[in-house]
Amino acid sequence: MSATHIGIAGAGLLGRLLAWHLARAGHQVSVFDRASGPEPTFDGQQAAAFTAAGMLSPLAELDNSSPEVAVLGWRSLALWPRIIAEMASPPPFAARGSLLLAHRSDLASAQRVLVRLAQALPGTPHAEPLSAAQLGELEPALQGAAHAWLLPQEGQIDPVAAMRALHDEACDVRWNWNRRVTAVEEGALVFDDGTRQRFDLVFDVRGTGARPQLPVRGVRGETVWLHAPSHGLTRPVRLLHPRHRVYIVPRSADVVLLGASEIESEDRSPVSLRSAVELMSAAHSVMPALAEARIQRLDANLRPALPDNEPHTDVSAGRVRINGLFRHGWLIAPALVEDALRAIGLNAAQPATEFAP
Ligand SMILES: Cc1cc2nc3c(=O)[nH]c(=O)nc-3n(C[C@H](O)[C@H](O)[C@H](O)COP(=O)(O)OP(=O)(O)OC[C@H]3O[C@@H](n4cnc5c(N)ncnc54)[C@H](O)[C@@H]3O)c2cc1C
Repeated sequence: MSATHIGIAGAGLLGRLLAWHLARAGHQVSVFDRASGPEPTFDGQQAAAFTAAGMLSPLAELDNSSPEVAVLGWRSLALWPRIIAEMASPPPFAARGSLLLAHRSDLASAQRVLVRLAQALPGTPHAEPLSAAQLGELEPALQGAAHAWLLPQEGQIDPVAAMRALHDEACDVRWNWNRRVTAVEEGALVFDDGTRQRFDLVFDVRGTGARPQLPVRGVRGETVWLHAPSHGLTRPVRLLHPRHRVYIVPRSADVVLLGASEIESEDRSPVSLRSAVELMSAAHSVMPALAEARIQRLDANLRPALPDNEPHTDVSAGRVRINGLFRHGWLIAPALVEDALRAIGLNAAQPATEFAP
């Protein structure tokens, strides 16, 4: 396909990744977003991509997603380093594994999760039990959990830095802010002032904003940013907990992010006391030094999910829709974008190997 004039509705994770790829391939790209600018606002209204923890966890996510998502995740783990290698200001990225922790009383539920992870996708890395001494050697900041496992080769990316780099380094892209797209037709975008702009090809990547054209819903997630100077944590950590999927993600040498609630609600209001208390007490139970951390930010947003909680790409003449990235957007976006561009003949590159290992 020789499309040259491309319109993208949505400048979130997918919109920026598509714009970055397509502009580099020489296409004329215009992006439209309802946001007032490219920077995060942390007001509950911004792209979900800014709120995300940035965990790249194909193995751990098997607990609540399909093997297909994990396959996309392992492929994307191989693609992110290639994308980042092309950037002048690359975002922090690492793939040194993550940790799974459980308190003594939660061992039975932890074992059920581990069985699910082991059986879901044979032939991929699996959880490795760690002794207390091995855990102490890997992550001395973690204390208090009776059981620990290493999830090899899982990764993390800094979403705010990656969103900035994808925007700043997508050369010659025309970014249009304060532009709400009300409909994405084949070869045209329709705006809330009633105007219509024609393109050779359009992408609908508006996340939760793609309604009513897509049956997408928002699933509320809340996070806590902590300023914890020299916290010492080097890998993302998940705590197996009967009620929450709690994680601690090192964002920099001085900042960790705690996440995340998962609530079937489209409430975009600030973080509740209950979620904040539960996330922070769970994190403190395995990382006691967090007691002296300072709360830097509380953030809430909606994850875009389709009825089956799976990602879907719909390709027709002049239009591509990608949505339903739910809780795995950073994990799977590079592979989804690669597949979509190949499906419309805009990507001649060989596919990434199926698994990062
Ligand atoms: C609390 C939380 C934690 C998360 N943690 C992780 C994680 O650790 N790992 C992971 O892989 N994923 C995580 N995610 C999921 C990830 O953030 C999403 O899957 C991803 O951002 C979805 O990308 P998207 O481009 O489809 O949507 P978004 O990033 O939400 O972008 C959609 C864009 O469309 C724009 N838009 C909407 N409507 C319109 C309109 N009508 N006209 C124009 N523009 C419009 C929006 O302003 C936005 O910029 C998390 C999400 C949340 C909320």
